[in-house]
Amino acid sequence: MFWKDFKTQESARNAIRKIVDPRPFKEPFESELISDLIVERHYFCSTRKLRPSRFRKLPGGNPYTFQGDFSNCGLDRSIGWHTVSWDKCLRPPKTNWDRIVRAMRDRSEPIKFAYRYSHPVCEACGVLPSEEVHHQAPSFVTLTDAIRALVNEFEITECLSGWNWFAEDNFTLPEEHKITQLFDQHHKQAMLQALCKGCHNLTKKGVIRKR
Ligand SMILES: [Zn+2]
Repeated sequence: MFWKDFKTQESARNAIRKIVDPRPFKEPFESELISDLIVERHYFCSTRKLRPSRFRKLPGGNPYTFQGDFSNCGLDRSIGWHTVSWDKCLRPPKTNWDRIVRAMRDRSEPIKFAYRYSHPVCEACGVLPSEEVHHQAPSFVTLTDAIRALVNEFEITECLSGWNWFAEDNFTLPEEHKITQLFDQHHKQAMLQALCKGCHNLTKKGVIRKR
């Protein structure tokens, strides 16, 4: 079974669509099935046992914005309706480490941006303006794997413990945490490369060799 009585992800998705699709915008409704889905499978709510009691669709978003009512979850009183994706709950779960790696990518963005700014011409062809920056050596995956080898499960849980999903959908690395410090140290030593679109695509295909 995929989840509850559903054999596949697709059958669960269809059942939820049947509940959600006919609902008019802005009108709150209850669904035991969707409440269960959020508390059992949502990446943030499942770890904190948050079970929204009602839902609503709002116009906008693709195809709509879906919100849950968290006011009965024993949280701060300012927290009521909050956007929550039922669809994401049906996708394969991400691990805590996946979330940390994603936050590492976010943390490297301003550094990559600054690098591109100081390297306006593609470093591979030397002709076209640079449009992308990639981790030349080590690759980003190798870099994060090296950090993973230096930390334990407890430190990973601890790193995520202060995440307030209601304030920010995407987890960001807490300053001062060991994982953040390790990332900063490793990333400082990583070699970046500024590339034009074409050369970047070739790198992804492995055509441009690492120097
Ligand atoms: Zn190029």
